[in-house]
Amino acid sequence: MKTIPAAGYAAHEAGGALEPFTFVRREPGPLDVEIEILFCGVCHSDLHTARGEWGGSVYPVVPGHEIVGHVSRAGAGVTRFRPGDPVAVGCMVDSCRTCPSCRDGLEQYCENGAVYTYNSPDTVLGGTTCGGYSNRIVVTEAFVLRLPPAMDPAAAAPLLCAGITTWSPLRTWETGPGARVGVVGLGGLGHMAVKLASAMGADVVLFTTSPGKADDALRLGASEVVVSRDRAAMKRQRARLDFVLDTVAVPHDLNPYLDALRRDGTLCLVGIPPEPHPAPGVGRLVNQRRRLAGSSIGGIAETQEMLDFCAAHGLTADIELIPIQQINEAYERMLRSDVRYRFVIDMESLTGG
Ligand code: NAP
Ligand code: ZN
Ligand code: ZN
Repeated sequence: MKTIPAAGYAAHEAGGALEPFTFVRREPGPLDVEIEILFCGVCHSDLHTARGEWGGSVYPVVPGHEIVGHVSRAGAGVTRFRPGDPVAVGCMVDSCRTCPSCRDGLEQYCENGAVYTYNSPDTVLGGTTCGGYSNRIVVTEAFVLRLPPAMDPAAAAPLLCAGITTWSPLRTWETGPGARVGVVGLGGLGHMAVKLASAMGADVVLFTTSPGKADDALRLGASEVVVSRDRAAMKRQRARLDFVLDTVAVPHDLNPYLDALRRDGTLCLVGIPPEPHPAPGVGRLVNQRRRLAGSSIGGIAETQEMLDFCAAHGLTADIELIPIQQINEAYERMLRSDVRYRFVIDMESLTGG
């Protein structure tokens, strides 16, 4: 198969730093779009995968699934995109497209396994898919998103994972006007959850381990901030919330968040800690018919819907733009919950501008 050269950053082993790396992409086929990457967000999943924390990492790993750029070439059969168009790619680059989940527009639950943007078996080129910490990517048209033209491309990048991963459960559990929604953790996902839930009309309570983030949480749209280490403050939230979205990347006690739910409320996990959470109390679930749920990213159609909603509401992420040479330091800061609120790599830095 014909290939084209690509350059980026990769992790070469579980404990290793990310380093410059050259590799190849497939030559675009008739239904493919070749994208010059301008910006790529830095998700905690990138860190989990680069460091092998979930197991199953195939090295070298080129992370990155919050990709924004413009079309550089479009195959002869591509109908929706032309060279120069602003576009985006999220966490998936393909799926079987025929199973019931794919037919429902929920490709992330593909029963034959979605092809993720990185660290997934590459069904076209062979080997493993390489993500957006790189200068270009080739993606089949069906998995390319339209970036609304007025959006700041750097601040839009995190919508492709942090945005859709919080949008999808908020929509699934219909947390609109009148709903009281808890968000746990003010990181990349959490800050988008606060913005989206409040834009949908919900009343948002933010739970944080970082008291210093309280002012930001209110500015982003929360109506209340609770420091989760404050037991008395946590008790005051008992049976108040309809829905809680937990974005935390480390194991922690879920019981206080179940206690915060009203009858029939749902605690939905989107954070994926490498180790399990301590098992929650059965009584807490049984007594008020509460539900413990999970949610994975979002489908292609709902990702486009989320982008269009964000454009209509003037929403993007709050970002810190970094050159790719600072990626290892950015990972360390992310581990200290010291990011406001998403690192985004300026891909011009790959070539020195
Ligand atoms: P992030 O930016 O690092 O945010 C995580 C937040 O969790 C931190 O900012 C912090 O907020 C809070 N936190 C950190 N340590 C904590 C502790 N010891 N106890 C309680 N809270 C703590 O990460 P992210 O990119 O938002 O990703 C979060 C998780 O979601 C990761 O596990 C990631 O892999 C996962 N994820 C899942 C999906 C999916 O499809 N389900 C998609 C993307 C990401 P405070 O400072 O406010 O406490
Ligand atoms: Zn992600
Ligand atoms: Zn499928």
